[in-house]
Amino acid sequence: LAGRKEELSKSIVEIDRVKIGAGKPVIMAGPCAVEDREQIFTTARTVKESGGEILRGGVFKPRTSPYSFQGLGKEGLELLAEVKEETGLLIVTEVMDVRDIDLVAEYADILQIGSRNMQHYPLLREVGKVDMPVLLKRGMTATIKEWLLAAEYILRNGNQQVILCERGIRGFQEYTRNILDISAVPVVRQLSHLPIIIDPSHATGHSELVTPLAKAGVIAGADGVMVEVHPNPEQALCDGEQSLDLPTFQKLVRNLKLLPSNS
Ligand code: PEP
Ligand code: MN
Repeated sequence: LAGRKEELSKSIVEIDRVKIGAGKPVIMAGPCAVEDREQIFTTARTVKESGGEILRGGVFKPRTSPYSFQGLGKEGLELLAEVKEETGLLIVTEVMDVRDIDLVAEYADILQIGSRNMQHYPLLREVGKVDMPVLLKRGMTATIKEWLLAAEYILRNGNQQVILCERGIRGFQEYTRNILDISAVPVVRQLSHLPIIIDPSHATGHSELVTPLAKAGVIAGADGVMVEVHPNPEQALCDGEQSLDLPTFQKLVRNLKLLPSNS
């Protein structure tokens, strides 16, 4: 089902007026985690004013350490709902647990499946039964084939609205957090009709590398980018080193708009 078919070379995931996979790269941006009212509202207003379409923000966070900030849970979803009401931005947020799907789906426009859960098959099956787009991040050690087969779990359960997200894979060098597999963009394009976006924030782990790699992704043909943005990256409770501050994000959006689209 994830494979490319002659008659349907490209799927478009459409949510209200936003079309992912229709040629114009879509911008998803926001903090790694929703932290408080001021942080999420300030970020969202900038995302909206800059021309971003989708607000990201985790409320259930898959943290490496159980002692790190785990996210605001339901309270964070309620903040996202208020922000959506004010700005009209669509919301993408991660769901980590089958038991939280109904709750997250009440507030989100796109359900995010994180890298660590790409092969969490019971979760994939269940989001496959929901009538809502799913953003499936590539597992950090997954081959493209494994990733497309993970998408297959969602598709075969009925949900055809899958967006793939390349977020970097593990390599041996230590300077960047992961290695952005830019070739995944044209490879997925050859193998599959599903839209693909890139996440240069988790791929690099360094804010100064986000802009060049976001541009590279769009030039390679990505249908959008997902970037982490924070009003005060030094104070961020999660992933501050890779988060763009607001002026840098605004500049990135201006830069991306100057690039040729991939239609
Ligand atoms: C995220 O986008 O919030 C996230 C945790 O990313 P990943 O699953 O790619 O590590
Ligand atoms: Mn993050």
